[in-house]
Amino acid sequence: MTPEALTIKNHPHFNEISQGMEIDFDFFGDTDDPACHNRTKEMVEALMENGYVYPREIDLAYCPKCERFLPDRYVEGECPYCGKPARGDECDMGCGRHLEPGEIKNAICKVCGGRAEYPQQTHYFFRLSGFRNFLLEHLQALGGTASARNFATEVGPLGT
Ligand SMILES: [Zn+2]
Ligand SMILES: [Zn+2]
Repeated sequence: MTPEALTIKNHPHFNEISQGMEIDFDFFGDTDDPACHNRTKEMVEALMENGYVYPREIDLAYCPKCERFLPDRYVEGECPYCGKPARGDECDMGCGRHLEPGEIKNAICKVCGGRAEYPQQTHYFFRLSGFRNFLLEHLQALGGTASARNFATEVGPLGT
């Protein structure tokens, strides 16, 4: 079954379940609906115009032998800080540091054992820190446990 056939099959099923749960939608489209494409485009373009989505050049692991980009878990090498064996984005057998793309030394493709390269690629990033104050206020209003709130405020871009 193709992904498209699966979505066509499931679409009325989800609609039926929603109605059974007394959930009404103003619009019940699917991911491939032009309305969905256009709405997504509008949101991303508005975020880009306001600087919340921005391009950045990053080094991405690529295996010339396999002719594919490699997710972090497909890369092995040495930690540039402690010299211990490391995987793509972290030194999990040595100092435990997070490694930025391209930082790992002597990078090897785990699929074929060949040497990985790091060509530059343009990727788009979301500037979460631009919503810091809004999110902190929102978190306080949510209630819940203090440890759940602290996790969100002390880890990642909100806490730095
Ligand atoms: Zn290390
Ligand atoms: Zn390879």
